[in-house]
Amino acid sequence: MSTTAEYTNIMVCTDCYFAHHYGVVEHEGKFYAGESDTPADCKPLGLCEGAELTDNTDENGEGYDEFSMRACQGCGSRLGGSRYRLAYWG
Ligand SMILES: [Zn+2]
Repeated sequence: MSTTAEYTNIMVCTDCYFAHHYGVVEHEGKFYAGESDTPADCKPLGLCEGAELTDNTDENGEGYDEFSMRACQGCGSRLGGSRYRLAYWG
C-alpha cells in the first residue's frame, strides 16, 4: 500500500471492483456485484463505506494483479483471485 497526500491505493477483489463500477444488488442477505450470478464472499466494498473511490488501474496492466491471496482491502475477503487497484480518497 502506498500513500500520497490525497489518497491511498487499495487492492480489491473482482467483486469489489465490479461493485465499484456496476453497483451491488442485495438479495436474500447475499450480495451480488454487477451482473454476477455468484454471491460475493463478503459485502463488496463493505470496508470502504462512505469513502470516495476511483479506479486506479491503467491500460498497461499497472494496478492489476492477476492472482493474489492477499485479503481484499475493500471487503476483507481472503479468497484468492484477481486484485484491482482503487484510489481511496478519505
Ligand atoms: Zn473485495
